[in-house]
Amino acid sequence: MDGADIVIVGTGHGGAQAAIALRQQGHEGSILMLGRDAYPPYERPPLSKEYLAGDKPFERIMIRPEKFWSDKGIEIRLGAMVSDIDWMAHEVVLSDGARIGYRKLIWAGGGDPRRLSCPGANLKGVHAVRDRRDVDMIMAQLESGARRFVVIGGGYIGLEAAAVLRKLDCEVTLLEALPRVLARVAGEELSRFIESEHRAHGVDVRLETAVEAIEGEDSQVTGVKLADGEVIPCDAVIVGIGIVPAVGPLIAAGAAGSNGVDVDEFCRTTLDDIYAIGDCAAHANPYAGQAIIRLESVQNANDMANTAARAIMGDKQPYHALPWFWSNQYDLKLQTSGLSIDYDQTMVRGDPAERKFSIVYLKEGRPIAFDCVNNTKDYVQGRKLLENQVDDVDLDLLADPEVPLRELL
Ligand code: FAD
Repeated sequence: MDGADIVIVGTGHGGAQAAIALRQQGHEGSILMLGRDAYPPYERPPLSKEYLAGDKPFERIMIRPEKFWSDKGIEIRLGAMVSDIDWMAHEVVLSDGARIGYRKLIWAGGGDPRRLSCPGANLKGVHAVRDRRDVDMIMAQLESGARRFVVIGGGYIGLEAAAVLRKLDCEVTLLEALPRVLARVAGEELSRFIESEHRAHGVDVRLETAVEAIEGEDSQVTGVKLADGEVIPCDAVIVGIGIVPAVGPLIAAGAAGSNGVDVDEFCRTTLDDIYAIGDCAAHANPYAGQAIIRLESVQNANDMANTAARAIMGDKQPYHALPWFWSNQYDLKLQTSGLSIDYDQTMVRGDPAERKFSIVYLKEGRPIAFDCVNNTKDYVQGRKLLENQVDDVDLDLLADPEVPLRELL
């Protein structure tokens, strides 16, 4: 029967890093990556940034040159959709019925973009931003003259897409259902700053705005109808309202999980010999007080991949990497470290008007996260502070932007 010693499902960040880490740690057996995507492993962050802007071609966003994989003896099968797992037989089943055996399975399926549930959601010109195909379709529309865009969702992906579209001189309306952008991941100070930056760059940011329907003609989108009846005419809609973890076959096979699939500190699911990593893996995170969370970041996908590879190689080390994240919008470089979940106080270091500042999130007087805008020094030193779990910080010094954070270590 067809098979490999280690089968990895997903050819994104987590899957690619898992294969790399296994080889780095001396795994000599066969590795097979199965991905439903049509392209070899590539980075996702540039999709809503440099790739959409046309500043980086596809070759420059590939995780490794194509030759790397064959040189390392890593087989990649593209267009291969895993639809079932027979965990007792140690086999995965592809959508064409083919069965592939494994000794260990690493599931790195990421997530599917959450779709709108209103009428018109499937019209042509309504796009997600999750994989290369999505962005190629947006770029094709831009090339054929689309200029009026509505972006639905004020999270990172929607905001980044809005910034690129403004750079390309498009008209952009950004709709956010909640009272502020980035509400899920950042505090009020950052949300207000980011909103004002987008407005200053000409984006029509509308908060607390619900979408009633997407309107179209000849199956092509022509506008977005809001709950108050207003219709915003447009050529294209970009939907960035989060993801749904891609774990269907795992859960159907009996793995525990409600928001994604549950994993322990070695990235093991509750099914024998099956690991899960990245966006889809719900885990107890030490930087969230052991709350069960999923993280959607390159850092988390890569670090979990390393954890799973180590565990498979018999060098078990629990996952406790400090979460970090970045976003680029206009000339703003936002860098985040730690998790601001359940913070009870914030401090702003520096002046947002100067477009270089940091927000410190504290819980019971202890820093738990930093959002740094054009302030890499604070980001780097803030990470050290969090990694060292310093909890007796002098708050006056912390609030003083003239005091380097390393002095608080
Ligand atoms: P993915 O990289 O999504 O890979 C999952 C793969 O599994 C996909 O190729 C999918 O097709 C495949 N797959 C799923 N189900 C199956 C199946 N049944 N059979 C076969 N294949 C399957 N993170 C940051 O840290 N910084 C950023 O600036 C940033 N920007 C982003 C911008 C965009 C537009 C997007 C989409 C994401 C961004 N992220 C960013 C998030 C980051 O890219 C993800 O957290 C990361 O890709 C997660 O890796 P993963 O391996 O879990 O999932």
